[in-house]
Amino acid sequence: MADVRTEARSWIQENWSPDLTLGAWWEALAMAGWAFPHWPKGYGGRGLERDDTRVVNEELAAAKAVAPPGGLGQMMGGPVTIDFGTDDQKDAWLRALADGREGWCQLFSEPGAGSDLASAQTKAVRDGDVWVVNGQKVWTSGAVTATRGMLVARTNPDAPKHRGLTYFIIDMDQPGVEIRPLKQMNGGASFNEVFFSDAIVGHDRILGGVDTGWQVAVATLAYERQGLGSRGAPGGVMAGSPGEKAGHLDRPIRELIAAAQKERNAAERGAAARGPNAIRRLAEEMGRSDDPTIRQRIVDLHIRTEVMRYTALRARAAAQQGRQPGPEVSIAKLASSELGRRARDLSLEILGAYGTLMGDDSPGEGMFQQMGLSVHASSIAGGTDEIQRNIIGERVLGLPKEPQVDRDVPFKELQVGTRR
Ligand SMILES: Cc1cc2nc3c(=O)[nH]c(=O)nc-3n(C[C@H](O)[C@H](O)[C@H](O)COP(=O)(O)OP(=O)(O)OC[C@H]3O[C@@H](n4cnc5c(N)ncnc54)[C@H](O)[C@@H]3O)c2cc1C
Repeated sequence: MADVRTEARSWIQENWSPDLTLGAWWEALAMAGWAFPHWPKGYGGRGLERDDTRVVNEELAAAKAVAPPGGLGQMMGGPVTIDFGTDDQKDAWLRALADGREGWCQLFSEPGAGSDLASAQTKAVRDGDVWVVNGQKVWTSGAVTATRGMLVARTNPDAPKHRGLTYFIIDMDQPGVEIRPLKQMNGGASFNEVFFSDAIVGHDRILGGVDTGWQVAVATLAYERQGLGSRGAPGGVMAGSPGEKAGHLDRPIRELIAAAQKERNAAERGAAARGPNAIRRLAEEMGRSDDPTIRQRIVDLHIRTEVMRYTALRARAAAQQGRQPGPEVSIAKLASSELGRRARDLSLEILGAYGTLMGDDSPGEGMFQQMGLSVHASSIAGGTDEIQRNIIGERVLGLPKEPQVDRDVPFKELQVGTRR
């Protein structure tokens, strides 16, 4: 480990420069195998342990160097390609993910299939060497700039729902794929609806085999939880998104860092709004800091924030040691959603009628109002609170598994809308 640290440190000292373009830096990292050190050699990695990747990320952070490309393709697509892909697929995709030439999106959720992903109805029908895809996905983060998508589609309606799904890596830039951004109530548009009308994907783009995509989907979700669990761990500076369409690859890093800093300031203000210190200051500003019930709720928030911090540290340690994410990730995620709701309710109560005002002139410069409009996303993304409770109930408390009466019924015999 000490060797990895020393070697990575001296390589970063020799090669890192904010005068490079983002694409050139990511290319250099991948070429040297430092982009994802636990990925195989030749694909942007060195075949090291996952813990070595943590060490390299710490070194990047210490040098204030830009982090390797981040995104759903790098977090989930690369790892499942390593686990399930053929050599040709690894050659085609891994290097382009490692050096950031490609960014991928996750085409899982549908209007009738979110928590119950196995009910996906988007279908793919084989036509010689290709499959023809029709249907709709929703909530697809980053679809607008994605090069490819990780698509779960129904290929065998005669089989029970978990056994008739296939996992494709589909090109997003083609006539049969229409992307419609969804405007959110907080003003952003980070996710999209994606419509497939006779879109084409090659037979050689299947990961894991025809009708056995469920296993690949489950592995993808495990990598997603692992990625969410290790958020906030030390890493290099984030400065731009992967993929040609994001438009960052040819730009000098210096320029991107300045732009990212602005976004980070806004994000940090949003995150700070959930903290007890920011709410205490708000109570002082609004003349409510002598109110005993408000004081009690601020202290309650402080205690819960500390407990949450320790749980998140346990979840992160598991991810960094390369262990599969355990129930601590679900506990941390659930606690974080609950904290967010409490912070929203308390800050909006302190604000009173001012809670309806946005903008820099409003109390707290609008950050509590913005937080109030955004905080519920964490109760849904990456598995809802109820699903986390199910996981905790089954894996921590040892409660019986949810009954699944439709597990062995052919998908085509299930009623639309009652499919579970
Ligand atoms: C910010 C954000 C980003 C996202 N990005 C993506 C993305 O990039 N790609 C993608 O594919 N999806 C994405 N999603 C979608 C996300 O995965 C789904 O919204 C989530 O899985 C819930 O599915 P659903 O919205 O269909 O709700 P449903 O599954 O329909 O759930 C509705 C309600 O029923 C409850 N419920 C459902 N099943 C059970 C059960 N078994 N036991 C108890 N309660 C239950 C749920 O908790 C919820 O309260 C994103 C969501 C958000 C908020």
